[in-house]
Amino acid sequence: MDLKALYNLSYGVYVTATLDKGRPVGCVTNSVMQVTASPATVAVSVNHDNFTNRCIQENGYFSVSILTTQASPAVIGTFGFSSSKHTDKFENIPYRTVQGIPVLQDCCGYIVCRVMDKMESSTHTVFLGEVVDAGGYTGDEPMTYAYYHNVIKGKSPKNAPTYVPEDSPAPAPDAPKGKNTTRWVCSICGYVYEGDKLPEGFVCPICGQPASAFVKQEP
Ligand code: FE
Repeated sequence: MDLKALYNLSYGVYVTATLDKGRPVGCVTNSVMQVTASPATVAVSVNHDNFTNRCIQENGYFSVSILTTQASPAVIGTFGFSSSKHTDKFENIPYRTVQGIPVLQDCCGYIVCRVMDKMESSTHTVFLGEVVDAGGYTGDEPMTYAYYHNVIKGKSPKNAPTYVPEDSPAPAPDAPKGKNTTRWVCSICGYVYEGDKLPEGFVCPICGQPASAFVKQEP
């Protein structure tokens, strides 16, 4: 079996959000699909380890904010690489509520759903949601998972359904580029910068962390 075939499935980059006893919570998801048009129904896959999973089960509603290729690194860093359990992820991220559920301002469309059903896999819950509201369409280019990997050079959070260990920042033994170059690895998101030193005022383009969050790897 060659699991590389699965690399050719397409995904987007979304923030899935809900409320924890009235407090906005959310996480990055990449597996969102429209299941049927009438009534509009979508499915989203959320890792059991994501605090947001339990909150969706309790609340019964969730939103999906569709990120664009211009999404702020702070959005991906905040929602993809920290937990709502201990962090108020919405503290510095502009949002509004639709049907009482938080949706991000920085998106090219949002969907609000009522949980109709769910299915458990070994690691993820697939929530089936009836669309109860949607809007915010801007015409901006939505971010695909391929764009996130190939253009932004982003890594998969370990809770992503598409996470594979090869995606870790460990250097590939036969990597043609950077073999003799110092690497700086972001301790939060795994982004790798290659060069003798980090540029003045450098911040991680994925998660917005400062240079102090980077770990040096000698060639
Ligand atoms: Fe980072």
